[in-house]
Amino acid sequence: MTAKILNGKTIAAQLRQTIKQQIQINTEQGIRPPGLAGILVGDNPASQIYVRNKHKACTEVGILSKTFDLPATTSQDELLNLLDKLNKDTEIDGILVQLPLPTQIDSNLVIERIAPTKDVDGFHPYNIGRLVLRMPLLRSCTPKGIMTMLEQTGIDLVGLDAVIIGQSNIVGRPMALELLAARCTITVCHSKTKNLKSKVQNADIVVVAIGQAKFVAGDWIKEGAIIIDVGMNRLEDGKLVGDVEFETAVKKASWITPVPGGVGPMTIASLLENTLLAFQKNF
Ligand code: NAP
Repeated sequence: MTAKILNGKTIAAQLRQTIKQQIQINTEQGIRPPGLAGILVGDNPASQIYVRNKHKACTEVGILSKTFDLPATTSQDELLNLLDKLNKDTEIDGILVQLPLPTQIDSNLVIERIAPTKDVDGFHPYNIGRLVLRMPLLRSCTPKGIMTMLEQTGIDLVGLDAVIIGQSNIVGRPMALELLAARCTITVCHSKTKNLKSKVQNADIVVVAIGQAKFVAGDWIKEGAIIIDVGMNRLEDGKLVGDVEFETAVKKASWITPVPGGVGPMTIASLLENTLLAFQKNF
């Protein structure tokens, strides 16, 4: 078997086009564009690239994007004060604070300070709670993007066994909640999980989000499984690879996401969708 490729780049491009058209229709009717504030604290090179890419994606679809580039020495109070201002700003519908933050700032406190209605990353306990209760509103972008990709396969997810490797607040946990809401039977694995390989061998869907290059090999994978690779790892030669050994996994899976060009573009497309949704709710 050779897997079909779940092409996030193509699906994301279609989503961005739909969002752009919606904003254009609004503009023609004299309605203001959605506004997104992106906050970057410090000079982490990867974070700078992520914020730049998000800003570019916003601008391309007509979202008004404002970037706040704060020094690494920014105090927690200064950041909280900025959030208070943005929460009240009627032209800003979405706020994202790029993680990780410098050590003097408590990320949880910062996430909780964002108005839940403007929490376009979907990290606020209010939005996670809504997902737990199957009343999703602003959903975490990476898991939401993955669900959109899974819908594109046309496969009925109900009753499938899903293994999620990684239990982070931004990927693994909300991913498990999304798949549970889709009526999969979920197993969430982490660094202390026993017999990980045998869990993967029994899974119909595997979502891997750990940040270790080529960690899951093809011989772990059940014939015909759907493989979603969230990992982004830069090898010494500069090549970007996922957490799954693509070359062997592609021979076992029915569907697989490539890295790059799989989950990454979907995460950004989901952020744009969330910003439009927040705008529609706030307007
Ligand atoms: P994270 O916060 O570092 O969490 C990593 C998770 O992996 C933890 O739950 C950890 O377990 C688990 N883990 C580590 N080693 C393991 C092992 N040997 N076996 C089983 N589980 C193991 O990571 P994250 O923020 O979720 O990101 C994960 C990866 O996804 C990274 O490569 C990141 O760059 C990428 N990512 C991509 C996107 C995208 O849009 N494409 C978005 C977000 C993240 P413990 O909890 O036990 O420590």
